[in-house]
Parts: sequence; structure tokens; C-alpha cells
Amino acid sequence: MNFKSQNQYDCFDPHSGLIPLAVAEQSIQQAVNPIQDTEFVSLSNSVGRILAGTVTSRIDVPPHANSAMDGFAIAASSLPETGSRSFRVAGTALAGRPWPNPCSENEVVRVMTGAVMPLGTDTVIIQEDVQAADEKAEIRSGHRPYQNVRPAGEDLKSNEPALKSGIRIGAAEMGVLASTGVGEVEVFRKPAAAVFSTGDELMNAGEPLPPGAIYDSNRYVLIGLLQSTGMDVRNLGIIPDNQLQTIKSLRKASEDADVIITSGGVSTGSADYVINALAELGELNLWRIALRPGRPFAFGKIGRAYFFGLPGNPVAVMVTFYRLVQPALRKLMGTSEHYPVQVVKARAVTKFKKKPNRSEIYRAVLSHDENENPIVSSTGFQGSGLLSSMSHANCFVLLGDDDVAVNPGDMVNVQLFRGLTGNWITV
Ligand code: AMP
Ligand code: MG
Repeated sequence: MNFKSQNQYDCFDPHSGLIPLAVAEQSIQQAVNPIQDTEFVSLSNSVGRILAGTVTSRIDVPPHANSAMDGFAIAASSLPETGSRSFRVAGTALAGRPWPNPCSENEVVRVMTGAVMPLGTDTVIIQEDVQAADEKAEIRSGHRPYQNVRPAGEDLKSNEPALKSGIRIGAAEMGVLASTGVGEVEVFRKPAAAVFSTGDELMNAGEPLPPGAIYDSNRYVLIGLLQSTGMDVRNLGIIPDNQLQTIKSLRKASEDADVIITSGGVSTGSADYVINALAELGELNLWRIALRPGRPFAFGKIGRAYFFGLPGNPVAVMVTFYRLVQPALRKLMGTSEHYPVQVVKARAVTKFKKKPNRSEIYRAVLSHDENENPIVSSTGFQGSGLLSSMSHANCFVLLGDDDVAVNPGDMVNVQLFRGLTGNWITV
């Protein structure tokens, strides 16, 4: 098949035709179609899943007006305008134990937080403001009518949308769904991602390291990234640098995976077999990006599986995944938010070099100066094999194709890490 014609850029001239990052991002995003299949999962197994369809609450949440404080429920119309007034304490209502009788204008009902407001009452006076003894309660003037009451439907109204389709379910959403009484939710099927590493030099962690070999770190980076994105991950091991083996492995993976992700073997070296294998099996839609690190990145399709050929260098794997793969996976998964990771401005405190006509992405640390203004500094040497520098960083500094070198004091665009490192608090 002729894959040159599918691309306005000439993929095979190493000196020209590098695809601008923004163009690559856009075309990959356009090429991916969201999954349509859905399934029902129990609420307790729904974290990270994408809601298929808007959920409408069948009830008011809360279902009834209730007290927001421990105190005395009273009718606003009975509140004294001046001085104070004595009321009979008719009874007590607790959360889950309503007071069954109507409350008259001369009565109050002792209420605990969450108790249903007794019939005839609409205001709660906190217990600290009431002198109560022998079933009598003395209430002074100066209280606001309707205070300390949570009306029915204050959080969600019955028959109104509670959560929109395409939302990724997190802890808050699980709680919201539970509050509406929903025990099962319809979500999009989890797409399956097959992951390979390529390279004769690679060994599995846990095995002895022969001379000349290195441990395969990319597969673990990718497994972590894919799992935290919410994909169903198939760990398919290492493919040796061999054309037939590469074709065989990719063909097999394409039979039941929605996405195939490889690392390494996508450059133009003599041991780079992935591009030719892809051309043989499917289509190459895009190859070689004007991006550092990440230049040899490739995107295509094998059968119905989307193919992402990531570079071999571990930092390039993370950068291209974050910018080019993860947004596409989000779209595939059915979520309505494809680019949730914020870009913010910060003042550089170190230099960032820049070559023209390509995007450069630096590992950096975002913090604050003494006036609480955001500042950002490079992690230092930016070799694309320095995976540990990813763990020391908390953000990328983004320099676009037309940007020039950055000097201390200049403002730069910073993209925060989300899910790239294990840090809970990154800034
Ligand atoms: P390649 O693109 O295959 O030429 O690889 C570029 C560099 O990344 C080489 O130094 C490889 O040894 C290294 N590399 C490739 N795959 C991996 C991997 N799975 N884990 C760690 N390093 C890798
Ligand atoms: Mg290689």
C-alpha cells in the first residue's frame, strides 16, 4: 500500500516534512472515533469509568427538608419580634427518626442534624441560643426566618440531570450517583490496549542483565500510563528487532485490541522495523513530528486497532503519550473532556534553549516565589533517556514551533503533570 499519499508531509525525507505538533495532535484527535458499546457496572466498581448517557435523579436530594444543625425547629411566624418567648418542647426528631406530629404555633421540636423538619416548622434555632429546661424552651428575638434548614432538592432536583454523559466517574461522582439511589451505572466499554516494547537489547525486569542489555522500562511506563487513563491493558512483552516477528506480533495484537502501543524501532535506523511492519499490515497516517523529545512518533491503523508507535527513549515515550496518545484515548473511551490538563503561565528562573521550527518540551519544577507568583525551573540536563528526571519534575515547559530561547524572567507556558508521576502534591 502507498502510505505516502495519505499524508501531506513526506514521511520519508529525513530532512523535511516533520509534522508540526499541533497538526499531529489535531489529525490524531480527528481520526479516533469514540467507543459505542456500553455495559452496566455496580457503583462500587465504577471509578475511572465513563458515563454512557446522562443520569437523571429520580428523587430530590435531599429527599426532604431537614435540619442543618442541632437545635429547635420552629415556625418562622412564631419567632418573637422583640424580647423573648417561651415555647413547649413537643418532642424530639433525630436523623432517620422523624417527629410524627404537627407542631403548633406555641411549640418547638428538638431536632438533631439531618432530622426531617417536623410538620409546621421551617426554621431551626441552634441549641446554643436556646434556654431549655423542663420541656420549655425560651427563644429570643433576632433570629432569621428559615435559617439552618436544608430544603428538599437543595443538592439535586428530581427529574433534573445529575451527571452528564461522558463524565469520568471519580469519588465525587460515585457519591452523587449513590445520593440519587442509583446502584448500577451504564458506562462505555473499557477499550483494550496492547503494549509491546521493541529492541534486541531489552530484558525483563527481574531477570539477570547480560552484557550490552538494558532493562525494558518503557513497557512499565506505558502500563502505568494506560492503567491510570482507564484502559484495559494487555502486556505483550518484547518484540525482537526482526521484520517477521514484528509483523506477526502486531497482527496478532490487532485481532482483539482497540489500541496497539509500541515503543522503539520507529526511527530510520537499520534495526527499526515498526514502520515497515505497519505499512505491510495497515496504514501509516502520520510519522515524524517536529517535537523534541519525540520526533520519530508514528500513528496509524491495523485493522480496527489504532496504532501508536512511540519512540524508544523513555522520556520521549512519556512526552508523546501525554500530548498525542492520551487525548486520543480519552476520546476513544467516550469522555467529553479530551484535554483536561491545564496550561498555566509561570516566570522562568532558568534558561530554556530552543531550536527554530520545532516544539520543545522540557521537564521542569513549578513552584512559587515569595509573593506567591508561579515560577518554573528546568530539572537540568534534558537527555531523553533520563527517566528519573520525570519523577523529579512536576510539569512540562512548552515551547512552540515559533518560540525562541527563554531567559530567566521570561514568562512561559507550563503544563502540569496529572498522573505522570506518583506525586500527590506536585506544586
Ligand atoms: P530506538 O528508537 O529503538 O532506536 O531506541 C532509542 C533508544 O531508546 C535506545 O537507546 C534504546 O535502547 C532505548 N530504548 C528502546 N526501548 C526501550 C525500552 N523499552 N526501555 C528502555 N529503553 C529503551
Ligand atoms: Mg530499538
